[in-house]
Amino acid sequence: MITRKEQQTAQEHAAEMLKQAGITITEKEAARIEVADFGLGHLEKEGAQALTLVQTDRISVKVLVLFPLQTLPEHWHPPVGTDPGKEETLRVISGRVFFYIEGQNSLKEGFIVEGKEDCYTLRHEIIMQPADQILLAPGEKHWLQAGDQGAVLYSFSTIARDALDQFTDPHIDRITKIMDE
Ligand code: ZN
Repeated sequence: MITRKEQQTAQEHAAEMLKQAGITITEKEAARIEVADFGLGHLEKEGAQALTLVQTDRISVKVLVLFPLQTLPEHWHPPVGTDPGKEETLRVISGRVFFYIEGQNSLKEGFIVEGKEDCYTLRHEIIMQPADQILLAPGEKHWLQAGDQGAVLYSFSTIARDALDQFTDPHIDRITKIMDE
């Protein structure tokens, strides 16, 4: 849960980072930047900001903003009906991103969120810079973390059904509750 004020502050911060990254958005779009704390209540540590630019019955385009050292929790996009699940390409626009997938432990630059070893099982680290991109197959588990300057990424994918995403952390609630003070 986050407060309305926290949501607004995060939206403004994210909009500013998008601007710095050379991505122009309207004020209306800035006001609908999704701020996700994944129900964990510590947005700066674990969370993400996302603006959906395209969403049809078949494809989705988003820009993701991660604040400095913010971690997007380990998850995967499961099959839904006859759809094998979201296939996604992430492309870094600005900042450094530490990306984790299945494979040999090579974690070095990034870090596991304190006390949450069980919630971050993937330790194969890929260090991504602007213009680097990665393709994730449907159902492929992943998590990511921004470097100390934060990061902006594009996400190009088949249809996104965020509410159905699965997370390793059992305490996660994908739909963020906003509390009016
Ligand atoms: Zn994902």
